Amino acid sequence: MKIDILGVQFDNVTLKEAVEEGLTFAGGEGFHYVVTPNPEIVNLARQDAAYREILNKASLVLPDGIGVVHAGKILGTQLKERVPGIDFATGILPQLVKEGRRLYLLGAKPGVAQKAAEQLKQQYPGLLICGTGDGYFTDNELVTEQLREANADVVFVCLGAPKQERWMAQYGPSSGAKLMVGLGGVLDVFSGEVKRAPELWQKFGLEWFYRLLHQPARIGRMAKLPLFLVTAWKARQKEKV
Ligand code: UDP
Repeated sequence: MKIDILGVQFDNVTLKEAVEEGLTFAGGEGFHYVVTPNPEIVNLARQDAAYREILNKASLVLPDGIGVVHAGKILGTQLKERVPGIDFATGILPQLVKEGRRLYLLGAKPGVAQKAAEQLKQQYPGLLICGTGDGYFTDNELVTEQLREANADVVFVCLGAPKQERWMAQYGPSSGAKLMVGLGGVLDVFSGEVKRAPELWQKFGLEWFYRLLHQPARIGRMAKLPLFLVTAWKARQKEKV
């Protein structure tokens, strides 16, 4: 079931359901991509119809961030839960190991994907990482070719928004991969460069605040979030009249 939040059609799924679906894509036929919009991405999509279409054409649209869940409530719809991209990514890993699927890590600054690969292989023994690449490339065809040569089944695409979603939609189908997931700064976390909020903060929906404390430069981006909720509220008022 889809839930519309300011023009973006979210899948109303639990993390468990999302993981199951993702694994079906990874082992199936054809190409699928998964997007994980947070309020910032929804805001971008409101101003850019082509980008909005790319998001809405994804096989799974997961509500990353408590802000999206709150906006849903304001709009009178209840998403089952927040499904952070990073939890979806780690959720599929054990089964990728079992099924022997090939994972490629693409994105972040040079060296980070490689470091993330080493960390993940330690945490998930047997994980088959078939290649890594940084996210500051200019030759898109070359990267697509590298994914094909690596015979990647699943690619974590971490180029930041809106670049990663556009990239997956345009280059994914010819990459030979079955599943691509747009994951923003997740490789920075996997590599250990950036720490994720402790579980209690996550549970209380305060992950954004933890991030702000540790990366104060994000204040400009985050200042737009309250505005996002106000936009949702205004949209709801319009619906009522
Ligand atoms: N990035 C990249 N290529 C680019 C721009 C950004 O690989 O051309 C990477 C950047 O190094 C970072 C990630 O994309 O690892 C974006 O992280 P951010 O924290 O902004 O994303 P969020 O998790 O907030 O979506």
